[in-house]
Amino acid sequence: AKLSSAGSCLVYSSMLAERTRQRMQISQGLHRAIAKGELSLRLQPIVNPTNGHIVAAELLLRWHPATGEVPPAVFIPIAEATGTIIGIGDWVFAQACEIEARWRQRWGDAAPAYLAVNLSPRQLNKSSIDGDFAAMIERSGARPERLQLEVTETALMADVEANLSVLRRLAALGMPIAVDDFGTGYSSLAQLTRMPVSVLKVDRAFVASLDQQPENRAVVHAIVSLGRALGLTLVAEGVETPAQLDEMLTQGCSLAQGYLFYRPMELDAFDRAIEQQLCE
Ligand code: C2E
Ligand code: CA
Ligand code: CA
Ligand code: CA
Repeated sequence: AKLSSAGSCLVYSSMLAERTRQRMQISQGLHRAIAKGELSLRLQPIVNPTNGHIVAAELLLRWHPATGEVPPAVFIPIAEATGTIIGIGDWVFAQACEIEARWRQRWGDAAPAYLAVNLSPRQLNKSSIDGDFAAMIERSGARPERLQLEVTETALMADVEANLSVLRRLAALGMPIAVDDFGTGYSSLAQLTRMPVSVLKVDRAFVASLDQQPENRAVVHAIVSLGRALGLTLVAEGVETPAQLDEMLTQGCSLAQGYLFYRPMELDAFDRAIEQQLCE
């Protein structure tokens, strides 16, 4: 017994060492990712499910070092832990401004209603974020009211007072704020009403569970009713099947995003989809 427990301990510690080594490699690689041009972006359409029209898009980050693409679910948490997410987040926001400015130039008022950008809680902690973002908006000519900032419910509620102040400053620049992955954390109604929030994105986990766990319908119903009572726009995330869409529409979501409609796409493919829609 003694031997085998020592053995499994060894296996365990070498696995840990391997994990640590991988994390170190990722964090070092991320450091130079921008300079090396290894970051790119995708756009996932957000649609009006009643007519299938693209009304907006979410900007999603990709990292492809020479060793092969690493998914955001792996590298974002590491970038957050090491702080690299701040530089990366600035790069993403600058790109978002350029994309929106191009939309404005090309399509004017007929452009997608907004471009949603993910914000990490680490970025919110940076006191100069509003000034930095204001400068990037100014330089690019993007319309701030068409740049939506997504903050996860968990990040939002982790430090209500601090976030309230920074989000009010960001919202004062004209940018709408969305609560991402809504339903997974806990917001008290009182806290939510204090936040300058205009959109709730119902977490994919709830949408996905509707088929398998019908009891979740009650939870989704509560979430959507809450949002509607507060006058917020509701977006169903990760919609993969017509049945899920039906249910989310019945519950009162007005916008949807998911593989049922579109996967995240290259920027030029997104442009073509908009051009085609404008020709219809
Ligand atoms: P998220 O913000 O919740 O983004 C939605 C994720 O769900 C995306 O994964 C998207 O590709 C995926 N998705 C969309 N529709 C479906 C569907 O129908 N089924 C399934 N199974 N998945 C769907 P992605 O691009 O891998 O991003 C993962 C997470 O990484 C994002 O979750 C977000 O938290 C983070 N992330 C991505 N880009 C950025 C960024 O620029 N900055 C920050 N801070 N985080 C980012
Ligand atoms: Ca998001
Ligand atoms: Ca989400
Ligand atoms: Ca998520």
